Amino acid sequence: MEKYLVFGNPIKQSRSPYIHTAFAKQTQQAISYQAQQPELDGFKAAVKTLIAEQGKGANVTAPFKEQAMQLCDELSERAKHAAAVNTLSFIDGKIYGDNTDGLGLVQDLLRHNVVLKNANILILGAGGAVKGVILPLLEQQPATLVIANRTVSKAQALCEQFGSDKMTGCGFDDIKNTTFDLIINATSASLTGEQPPISEQLITEKTICYDMVYRKELTPFLHWAQELKAKAVIDGLGMLVGQAAESFNIWRGVMPEVEQVLNDLRVEINNS
Ligand code: NDP
Repeated sequence: MEKYLVFGNPIKQSRSPYIHTAFAKQTQQAISYQAQQPELDGFKAAVKTLIAEQGKGANVTAPFKEQAMQLCDELSERAKHAAAVNTLSFIDGKIYGDNTDGLGLVQDLLRHNVVLKNANILILGAGGAVKGVILPLLEQQPATLVIANRTVSKAQALCEQFGSDKMTGCGFDDIKNTTFDLIINATSASLTGEQPPISEQLITEKTICYDMVYRKELTPFLHWAQELKAKAVIDGLGMLVGQAAESFNIWRGVMPEVEQVLNDLRVEINNS
């Protein structure tokens, strides 16, 4: 059995072991995949131990994604742009880093038949997750990509970093008189039962609203959008399963089928 882990702190909430175990069963790959919580200053040592134990790879979640990047001998373009790594592969004594979060998001949106080409897209938030999704979203050729954040300077810095003329960085007040085809909530506000302070005027019957956070009930943002009769509300569970599928493919050379695992996981979460 070849060994894989997900590293995070905290990690007990992680659904990755469930997802990868299901992928392995579905594709008949002999792997083990478990969750591990290094101390905050113990990530590098934990990776070294995994390599010494003949581990083949690892997923990395908060707060270690930037540290994971520092450990890599080689980085994919996506990881370089994201400045964060969520997928480590250990091959012939080298560490390779990739970032599959953005692909997970884009594929989930496309699976929901969200049209990204020529779309006007608003992202709320400018944290680590946003860095990872900008490049894959730009590759879909939207008309505009607006990043609005509580700390405006972070949104502006991201636009400078990517240097795309389709991007604008601003604060929540600057978007109140605009409408978008797609609004992606990538703030962590939903985790504390809050939502970004944005105007109701943003939501029309044509607006699709996506929250990177997922949970049993609708997040505050999706609940709010649904009340305002948004065209569709979608949570981030499909993004989670999608990024895992991309990691699995990188490691095993087999792309698992996402739909069944996503449906089973949804049932599991609803019953928990
Ligand atoms: P970060 O901590 O890097 O960034 C958090 C962002 O949320 C910042 O832009 C911050 O603004 C903003 N924010 C936090 N609280 C509030 C609030 N009350 N009102 C408005 N803005 C707020 O987190 P990540 O970028 O790593 O993750 C963001 C979210 O995405 C998390 O909830 C995470 O769980 C989820 N996620 C989901 C994935 C999936 O597969 N479904 C994958 C990755 C992430 P400021 O800069 O002003 O502090």
